[in-house]
Amino acid sequence: MARRVSSESVVAGTICDRCGGVMRCAVREAIIEGRLRSEIESRCATCGNGWATCSDGPDDYVRSALLAAHGPSRLRVAGGPFDDDALLLGLLRRYDGGGLFEVKSKVTEVRTVGCIGTSVEMELLARVLRAAGYSVVVDGPSPGGQTGDTA
Ligand SMILES: [Zn+2]
Repeated sequence: MARRVSSESVVAGTICDRCGGVMRCAVREAIIEGRLRSEIESRCATCGNGWATCSDGPDDYVRSALLAAHGPSRLRVAGGPFDDDALLLGLLRRYDGGGLFEVKSKVTEVRTVGCIGTSVEMELLARVLRAAGYSVVVDGPSPGGQTGDTA
């Protein structure tokens, strides 16, 4: 499972501070070496002015743009090695890094209605859970549809 999964969307950009043209802004989420990376890249078609930024983990701006463009994916745990929620809780905490209370409610969520995120986020979570022996179901757009190898 070394393949790189990414999802990209182009959103209406900001105004170029050099020439006043409209910049195209590409947002992207990718799984790189088992971690989620968020990238934003802006380029002005008129003068070539551009910038790019990337960060580890989810980014609200990137996330909402991808959700708006591709729609959400839903991940649900269909079965696991243990009935005990402790293992699942540990995996979600490691994946999410969120607070304990937040993640506890997510355990219930992921076992019942499923948790919602971008296709790339859910793909990454699915990998983590599958590696631990859980069977998971992911519904929604496939991140493989726009797989790219560009960095
Ligand atoms: Zn420009």
